[in-house]
This record gives sequence, structure tokens and C-alpha cells, in this order.
Amino acid sequence: YIRDAGQSEFLESVAEVLESLVPVFESNKKYIEVFERLVEPERQIIFRVPWVDDKGCQQVNRGFRVQMSSALGPYKGGLRFHPTVNLSVIKFLAFEQTFKNSLTNLMMGAGKGGSDFDPRGRSDGEVMRFCQSFMTELYRYIGPDTDVPAGDINVGAREIGFLFGQYKRLANEFNGVLTGKDLRWGGSLIRPEATGYGCVYFAQNYCNYKKTTLTGKKCLVSGSGNVAQYTTEKLLDLGAIPITMSDSSGYILEPNGITRKDLEFIMDLKNNKRGRLSEYLNYSKTAKFVENKKPWAEPADYAFPSATQGEVVYDDALTMAKNNVRGIFEGANMPSTREAISVFKKSNMMFGPGKAANAGGVAVSGLEMAQNSQRSQWTREIVDEKLSFIMKDIFDMSLASANDYGLQDDVQQGANIAGFLKVAESMIQQGIV
Ligand code: NDP
Repeated sequence: YIRDAGQSEFLESVAEVLESLVPVFESNKKYIEVFERLVEPERQIIFRVPWVDDKGCQQVNRGFRVQMSSALGPYKGGLRFHPTVNLSVIKFLAFEQTFKNSLTNLMMGAGKGGSDFDPRGRSDGEVMRFCQSFMTELYRYIGPDTDVPAGDINVGAREIGFLFGQYKRLANEFNGVLTGKDLRWGGSLIRPEATGYGCVYFAQNYCNYKKTTLTGKKCLVSGSGNVAQYTTEKLLDLGAIPITMSDSSGYILEPNGITRKDLEFIMDLKNNKRGRLSEYLNYSKTAKFVENKKPWAEPADYAFPSATQGEVVYDDALTMAKNNVRGIFEGANMPSTREAISVFKKSNMMFGPGKAANAGGVAVSGLEMAQNSQRSQWTREIVDEKLSFIMKDIFDMSLASANDYGLQDDVQQGANIAGFLKVAESMIQQGIV
């Protein structure tokens, strides 16, 4: 801990897992040493990213890649471009990724990367030059059998394209070094939808277990990016009623539910026009926009935090408990603080932690890697079926691990335990490396 002083996000994520693993450490002390090794990334790369903006001025950003664990396969995890990115954020994401990737049962180690670059207000040309400069350094450390990055916040189809183009040019190889690629050059069907769809599949499994349903239930969704959009779409498919979406400037409430047509407008606004969610009011006569607030105080049955870390704090959780929200399923990584999680548990809410509930994205990235290795492309139906199966498996495994350790129905603790044990046993077998 002293070594990582000041890395608040990383320490928070480690503390959350550490608490859950106490029964494992008590059952066998050998796991304590493994954990000590696991919290130290195998490799951390920090680099300068210089580029020239449209005015001809020099800009300098900082790039990161944290290669956390290769116990189960090549490092795998997304790239985030956001001004809040620093080493602590990337390390927490890489740490979470370790357990998440383990839960998918695909052969993937864990990593995460990104930059403090802010793409907001930047032209396509500026984003391209930034991506090219970023990859000019990163390409030395990655490869289809070494480390396979993907997207995350502000790294979508456009950025993956620019990054791949530059990698190909430098490495002189066309290979599966990145996932989230366009369908026409190696991407997988359902990859864009996978995190959101997967999160709703996870919620559906949890609801089935609790003998309840999503159908007809009001849902709060935060965020309006990739995860939030496809969470909303799948909720609509299952007859649920999503009533909110948000961005960093506030949230929209559509009291009678966001329809497919509304969602189409939001997707076009966010993905093509790169606009702000407040502009939704120019389109809808029934919606309200609440500036600089999160949607958690709106009465609803379920919540799907799908924007960013730390977006559900203790007071939000208390409000949700008071409003009788029955389940929280995390599309984002670590959106709920530990204090918020303790309220969910005390209030007997269903709680699907990010590393289990949002594992669908990386799972389909794993399937994209498999398709690239085969040089083939599976149908939408096949990928969706595999995704749905993997999400059910993650839920079942998390529940089973909780019950093995006498932690009745504690899916959060179960997910940490199941994810950890597989990595830990692999690390032990591979020796102290
Ligand atoms: P996008 O960039 O597509 O969307 C992010 C959304 O969250 C936007 O609506 C954005 O609003 C909002 N947001 C971002 N940062 C903040 C902030 N500091 N405060 C308030 N709102 C914010 O990202 P994704 O949808 O891909 O990612 C969302 C979350 O899901 C992240 O936690 C990510 O790590 C996680 N995740 C993503 C996966 C994927 O496959 N994409 C896989 C697993 C997890 P604005 O436009 O105003 O910035």
C-alpha cells in the first residue's frame, strides 16, 4: 500500500477484492502470497504522446499501458482516452480486468491503457494524429499473442481504426492485435453491443434466480455511450422500461420510457454528431433534462450504472434503497463505491458487480480473437448465443463460489473468489515469476 500511496482508485479496487477474499485466505494461507504478487503489475509502461493540433501547435499527452497479469493468456483490456486518466485509474481498471477476464473462461490475461487526451471538441484529423502518435510508441509492447488492447471510454470504432492503421504500418503485419475492429476488416458481430447486452443478460439471470423479471420494470441507466446505449436496447428487447440516460452534463428523464425511436435519436446524437444529451430536449416534448445530476433519485425498480467509476456514492445508494430499487447491475467499471455497495447488501438488493456484469464486452473481444485466429467470421446469432451462455455461466459461477464459502447469494464476493482462484492456481503452477 505504501508503494502505491495516493493511487486512490487502485487502492479502492484492491480493498474491495481483498475484503471479499478473506474467507479464501482463511481457508488456505498460500493465497495471501499470490495476492501480494497479483497487486504488482507485471509491467507498467508510461510514455510521451506528442502531436500537432489543427492550429499547428504542439500538444503533449501522457500514454499508459499496464500489463497486469498474463497468468491466463495474452494481456487483454481496453484503452481509455479521458482527461481524468492517470496511473491509478489505469491500474484499477487493469486489476479489475484480471478477475473479469478470468470469469469469462476464455484464455485472456489482463491489461488496460489509455491517455489523458480529451477528444471533446477535437477534429477527426486531430484524433487521428493523436492515435497515430500513441500507437507509434505502444506498438512495441503489444501483439496478437502478447497484448491485445480494445476500446473503452472515448475509444470507439473511429479510434480503433486509426490505431489499427498505424499499428499495421509500423509492424508490417495485418493481425488481430486490437479488438473492436470494424466488421469489414476483422471485427466481430455483436462486439459493439456486447457489454450492454451482456449486462442485461446478467441481470436477467439474477432476476430468474430471484424468481422475478425485468419485463415491465422501470430501469435507470446512466451514461449514453457504448455500454449505456446497448443496455437500453436490450432492456427494450426484454420489455423493460428504461427511463433515464446521462452524460457528464446531466441526465434525461423520459417519464413514460425511452422508446426505440428515442434511442435511435440518442445514438445518432452521441455517435455521429458527438453532441450533448441536453440537445435531446430539441427532439422530445415529454422529457426533462436535469443538469449536473445523476439519475439515482428517480423512482425505479432497477439501476444500470453505465458511465464511469464512482458515480454511485453512499447517499445515492440510500436514496435508491428508500425508493425500493431492487437491483443494481454495473455496466461501468467500479461505478459504486464500497460504502454504496454495503447499503445495497444491507437492503437485500440484487447486486451485479462490474467485473461480472460487464464482462460481456471482453468476452466477445475474446471471441473476436478466436475468429481472427481462424480467419473466419461467425454469424450474429452464434456470437449472441455464446455471449448469453457466457453471462449465464458467470452468474452461476459467482453464485456457486459464494455458496461454497458459505456466503449465501453474495454474487459480488462470489465473483471475486471465482475470478481469483483460477488466476491464483495458474500463477502457482507457473512458479514465482
Ligand atoms: P463511452 O465513451 O462510449 O461512454 C461513456 C459515457 O459515460 C458517456 O455518456 C460519458 O459522458 C459518460 N462519462 C464518462 N466519464 C464521465 C465522468 N467522469 N462523469 C460523468 N459521465 C461520464 O464509454 P463506454 O460506454 O465504453 O464505457 C462506459 C463504462 O463502461 C466505463 O466505466 C468503461 O470502463 C465500462 N466498460 C466498457 C466496456 C466496453 O466494451 N466499452 C467494457 C466493460 C466496461 P460524456 O460524453 O459527457 O463524456
